[in-house]
Amino acid sequence: MSTHDDHGHAAHGHAPAPAALPGKPTDWATVRNVSLLIAIFALLAWMVSLVACGSVEARENERRAEAASAAWPRAEQEARAFLKRYDAGYQKLYAAASEAEWLTNTHIVEGDDSNARRNDSSKAALAAFTGSVEVIETCRRLLAQKKELEPLTARQLEMVLYNAGDKPATAKELVAQRIAAETKQVEKLFGYSFHLDGKEVTPNDLDELLKKETDLKKRQAAWEASKEVGRGLKGGLADLQRLRNGTVRALGYPDYFSYMVSSYGMTTEEMIALNDRTLRELRPLYRELHTYWRHELAKRYGQPVPDMIPAHWLPNRWSQDWNELMSVPGVDLNAALKDRSPEWVVKQAEKLYVSLGFPPLPPTFWEKSSLYPVAADAGFKKNTHASAWHMDLDRDVRSLMSVENNREWYETAHHELGHIYYYLSYSRPEIPLVLRTGANPAFHEGIGTMIGLAAMQPRFIQAVGLAPAASDSKPDPIQMLHQQALFYAVFTPWSSGVMTHFEHELYARELPKEQWNQRWWELVAKYQGIVPPAQRGEEFCDAATKTHINDTPAMYYSYSLANVILMQIHDHIAREILHEDPHDANYFGHREVGDFLRLLLAPGATVDWRQLMKEKLGQEISAEPMLRYFEPLMKWLQEQNRGRKQTLPDV
Ligand SMILES: [Zn+2]
Repeated sequence: MSTHDDHGHAAHGHAPAPAALPGKPTDWATVRNVSLLIAIFALLAWMVSLVACGSVEARENERRAEAASAAWPRAEQEARAFLKRYDAGYQKLYAAASEAEWLTNTHIVEGDDSNARRNDSSKAALAAFTGSVEVIETCRRLLAQKKELEPLTARQLEMVLYNAGDKPATAKELVAQRIAAETKQVEKLFGYSFHLDGKEVTPNDLDELLKKETDLKKRQAAWEASKEVGRGLKGGLADLQRLRNGTVRALGYPDYFSYMVSSYGMTTEEMIALNDRTLRELRPLYRELHTYWRHELAKRYGQPVPDMIPAHWLPNRWSQDWNELMSVPGVDLNAALKDRSPEWVVKQAEKLYVSLGFPPLPPTFWEKSSLYPVAADAGFKKNTHASAWHMDLDRDVRSLMSVENNREWYETAHHELGHIYYYLSYSRPEIPLVLRTGANPAFHEGIGTMIGLAAMQPRFIQAVGLAPAASDSKPDPIQMLHQQALFYAVFTPWSSGVMTHFEHELYARELPKEQWNQRWWELVAKYQGIVPPAQRGEEFCDAATKTHINDTPAMYYSYSLANVILMQIHDHIAREILHEDPHDANYFGHREVGDFLRLLLAPGATVDWRQLMKEKLGQEISAEPMLRYFEPLMKWLQEQNRGRKQTLPDV
């Protein structure tokens, strides 16, 4: 569970950037930029391919479309012609940028910047296309005549304009600087060598220590070693704060946070309010967990009971997931997976999706993905953070993971394949290219996490042969719930609380870098009830140790909302489709569950997410099903905590 948020690039987006569509003469005198030339060549190549490739069938379709188009209003006709041109150019440049970015993530060689340069230039080419003045002006002009447009056409234009907003040509210099700064930051983050006691260690090594070590001194050393990477990232993050705000302001967004939130069709105030509401709804449950574990951990380490939990007492670098604090007899997945291979883990995840009626993964997924850890002596490193990639907005889907045969990767593999099957579900001719993305980013995260949850339920685990036979040892249902809450309920204060509020302040309030670490730990104390093992001054940059702060900025609320939404969907599937207890439902082999999921996945972003939820689930977003799910645990915790002082602040 723990890497949930670590499934980074959900709708893996190079925010669509405008390319130079034929039209407005560019300022040729200033074309010094290689990337722009690449864009132009790509465009020429594309035009040539259009001429060359018309099969009889394609020409026939075209003829029919032309006949139909005579009836459309002028704006609609113009919009369709524009989108057709746009899509072709966009897909090509997007695929090239994905490929370059894939390399910078899967093959990091210290001192070799050739991948980085290729990444920069292909991103710049994509940005030059998606953010071009012509694209922006055309969209604005056509959207001003929205009444004449089909809703689906207007939606596409809005998406194209949103994509332009990330890297508009109207801020060309800033865009170029930002692309370079982002590449540099990612390289620094993933090229960093962690050290413990003078020896080089991997992040996985440090995670293992934080999960298993019982000596508090050693735990503190591991925790502190994991934070060293932040120092070197502070300057880069300060640049990115300025550059991200600067680029979106060129298109009228007040700041980068507002820009990212607008993909939900919401304002910043609405998004913060939704996260705060979720925090408040789940606060009583988190408070009981916090109280219970303050006492439990004090016992475990032989310490007095603290008011705030020291960060190095917890089994995760950011205290975002406490799952590993306990194991439940009868469901020891780590033990069950010991004799399986990492390959088995990924195949098993695919099997579940296939049993729901999804197709097997395309062969290219297996050929091109990077699924397993890189050996220490391989001569290169890779991004250790799991992600799923939609390379060409069509059938080229890949995942980047470092799968090992343990419980955490078992669940992560199910999660990543959720993204992959989402990509495949909406990559159909009926779904316009620019709308081949999740209903919102939270949906994208939620689907895979839900399948991961389903893959951990007792009857499921038994069905796939990962648990002892029922009679041997039946896991205690309350303790199972407890362990799940150590992910779900513990994750909300981190995601809706610390991360969302920090990034909001970072961009919307332009929090100065001299205050970052202080503010970071204020938020950690307020939302998570956690303190660092020792004073953390401004020479550190603990926020930047979190991947998303650097490379997936201002969207972390998506992970929190994903949990809320997935509980709503799971609750619906268990009760309404399987007629089973949501605590122990077995999805395996139920095509009707797959049919329902496809109703949610197949439309991509062609419909508003709130409308989709209302139509298919009959609900608005709400933490109620999650609270109901954990109700038996809540009662148990209240019992255990009777008479104990509660020290967690209100939110
Ligand atoms: Zn994910």
